Amino acid sequence: MADQAFVTLATNDSYSRGAMVLGKSLRNHNTTKKLVALIGREVSEPVQAVLKRIYDEVRTVDVLDSGDTAHLAMMKRPDLGITFTKLHCWSLTQYSKCVFMDADTLVLSNIDELFDREELSAAPDPGWPDCFNSGVFVFCPSMETYGKLLQYCTEHGSFDGGDQGVLNGFFNTWATADISKHLPFIYNLSSIAIYTYTPAFKQYGGNAKVVHFLGKTKPWSYTFDPKAKQISGSVHEAGAHPSFLLDWWTLYSSSVVPMLQVHYGEQPFHSGCVEIEGSSSSARSLEPQLSSDERRQKWEQGQADYMGTDSFENIQKKLDRFLK
Ligand code: UDP
Ligand code: MN
Repeated sequence: MADQAFVTLATNDSYSRGAMVLGKSLRNHNTTKKLVALIGREVSEPVQAVLKRIYDEVRTVDVLDSGDTAHLAMMKRPDLGITFTKLHCWSLTQYSKCVFMDADTLVLSNIDELFDREELSAAPDPGWPDCFNSGVFVFCPSMETYGKLLQYCTEHGSFDGGDQGVLNGFFNTWATADISKHLPFIYNLSSIAIYTYTPAFKQYGGNAKVVHFLGKTKPWSYTFDPKAKQISGSVHEAGAHPSFLLDWWTLYSSSVVPMLQVHYGEQPFHSGCVEIEGSSSSARSLEPQLSSDERRQKWEQGQADYMGTDSFENIQKKLDRFLK
């Protein structure tokens, strides 16, 4: 249906990689809905180009530039920057109903049936099940609701500092009012639940429709060996289930990397590396020079400076020097 859409958000190139995989996973499971990505200005041109190939609509949102109520709200609560950006999805009024999905989610089967649900439907948060997790939720764009949300946000802030706190404060009858607004956990299976209740995961995990890589370490923080089909680093540390991580990387590697290569040329894309934010020469010259140990550490954490010090060109030069 043309007036229904899956919506995600990516303010930078890292989260954009998550958005690419999410979009691909929705397409692979033959969604009939539109795909919309809200992006920040930091997202680089080539990354935008790839997003545009996957998403029907890629819209830049910049609440700082908007000069409207969102801007004012932001001025009062600068700490809630990305939260305001996420609330922007209520302004997508050309759609009558949407499903928001975090950029760190992966779809494992068709979930178009979520559009039968009403606003605000979401799955419980594994940490506090009387709160919903804001990684997957059904909503109805409306300028009226958008305005109320912004107002709520400026007046009450967010009890957890993010969008989940604001949304649970605003939709505060979710836990008790209407059970049909409780999405089954399989629509937002947080990777940490796998370890907090392993027998339940063994019993029901196979029915998962959406996996959510919630927490600090995201799939793109790891390094992947596409030939061996292996992820390096301590996978358990992040609480992410290795097989879901492998699903993410397999899709990224087979469907997203070829598109990135078209727009970036040949580069190793299998570790946290397409970061080119702040890589303009002016920004770069302000960056402190890293010692070789620090650089090694960054590299091992998947934060190689692919456009600068660790660029292919520089590595080749170094190799040439070695060989001579
Ligand atoms: N997000 C973003 N840029 C950021 C942080 C977050 O675009 O720097 C978006 C992205 O869609 C992300 C969502 O906000 O999935 C929520 O953040 P995150 O998934 O990191 O939170 P968690 O699910 O781990 O609590
Ligand atoms: Mn998330």
